[in-house]
Order: sequence, then structure tokens, then C-alpha cells
Amino acid sequence: MTFEPGVIPHEEGLHDDPYLFFFRGDEILVIEDAEGPKVPKAGFLEERGIRVPRDTIFIGTLDSVPCYLAVSEGLDIKESGLQDTRILFSGLRSLLGFFDDELFRTAGIASQTAYWLRTHRYCGRCGRRTVLSENERALVCSRCGLASYPRISPAIIVAITRNRKILLARSRRFRTGLYSVLAGFVEPGENLEGCLQREVLEEVGITVTDIRYFASQPWPFPHSLMIAFTARYSDGEIVPDPSEIVDAGWFDKDMLPEIPPHGTIARRLIDWFVDTKR
Ligand SMILES: [Zn+2]
Repeated sequence: MTFEPGVIPHEEGLHDDPYLFFFRGDEILVIEDAEGPKVPKAGFLEERGIRVPRDTIFIGTLDSVPCYLAVSEGLDIKESGLQDTRILFSGLRSLLGFFDDELFRTAGIASQTAYWLRTHRYCGRCGRRTVLSENERALVCSRCGLASYPRISPAIIVAITRNRKILLARSRRFRTGLYSVLAGFVEPGENLEGCLQREVLEEVGITVTDIRYFASQPWPFPHSLMIAFTARYSDGEIVPDPSEIVDAGWFDKDMLPEIPPHGTIARRLIDWFVDTKR
């Protein structure tokens, strides 16, 4: 699958039955059959009596099929089974690993856009209602003209190794038992390396060296861009910051605790460590 983002629909695609990325709060409408969860097309929903809102927003094309975003706060769909097909709202995170990578990326874009629409209804400068621009992805104030664009929050994530061990930590936000690599948001005025050094020192009290870029991943919860690095331990003893970290330690690749699922960049970093530190 290939997603091409867009703001204005192509003429030739207008008559195709579009995919509908339909959000209620943070949850997306999916249809589920024996093959797993899918994003529905608008026609499928209409056939089943689910009214598609009029104010849908074009977000691009997936394999040339138009994709529209719809947001409904009030829609109540009975999670019903119809000929082995279920229609339900699902948290996007729980679809990780079930959707094709490109479909998950598209759903992530739709989710970030829906979040942005929900949180920028009014102008941040004068408080008047905003309206969607017709030629770019922007919400524009109907009085003072201030334009708001979808927000992206960069965050670093780092695999720190020390000889044949990796540093993993349990955040206060994690469910019980889960450990991962360290991560943190970039602050104004910081470059990525500076952010990385600060986060590592703040969260576990050590310094690192040999910082190398690894990969990046858009992470639509709600609007991050994760920029991943590897680094080597330099100095200090692990002292977790109790306001953020419950526990942290050096782990051998044969003695790993519960780690994040496939599809996350944290897991890619940990898999890289397992594959390279023999
Ligand atoms: Zn304004």
C-alpha cells in the first residue's frame, strides 16, 4: 500500500468509494472479519445504515483510493455482528501489528489530524472560531487570520549500551512489568544530541558518548516524531529520577524483561541490540 498525502482531492478519484477514517475521540471505526481489522469504505457503512457526516476532510489517497477523515463525538454504534463482520471503535494503538505499516501510518495521520481539529476549534490569539483552509492543512481564525498548523512534537529515544548490556527502565506511565529504552521530548532551543544527554542525565543520572542516529518514526499518540539513537555508556551510576522512573538497570540480551511490542521504534532499538551484541 502507498499513501499520498493531499489537501485537495484529485478530480479523477472523486467517484471512487473512499476509505473513511472515522474517529470518535481517540478511537477509530474499524470493521473486523476473519482476516482481521480493516478501515471501512464509505459505501460499506452507508449500506449498513451508518450515516457518514457531511463535513469529511480529504487527507490523501491510499493506492489511488481517496481517504477521508470524519470526526464524530456523538456517534453511537452498537458493536454488532453482521454476517461474521463486526463494526466497532478501536484504540489506534491496539491496531499496531494488525494493520499493514502503510495503513497504520495513514491511520496515524488521520488520528493526528482529528486530534488537531478537536484541539484548535478556537483561535489561540483572539478566541474566535477557526475555519479549515481550502488550499493547505491549516485552521484559520475567522477574525484575526491567525493560522494554526498540525503540531508535531519531536522526541528522542535512545538505546544505551555498556559492554554487552542495555539500559532499560520502567516509566511510571508503563503498565506493570514493562521496561523500555529512555525517551523524552525536545525542549525549545535544544538540538537532538543535547536533548538526549539531558534526558539521560535527568532520568537515570549517567552520561553517554558515541551518539549515533538510528532511525525515526512518526508516533501519533497524539503527535510525536520519535528520533532514535544508539549511544554508549560513559560515566556515572544509575540513579532513577523517582518522579518519572520506577526502576532502571543494565540487562543482558538473554535476560530481558517484558519489552515493547513489534511495530514500535523502541522494539527496533532493542532488537538491534539483541542482534548486534553477541
Ligand atoms: Zn484570532
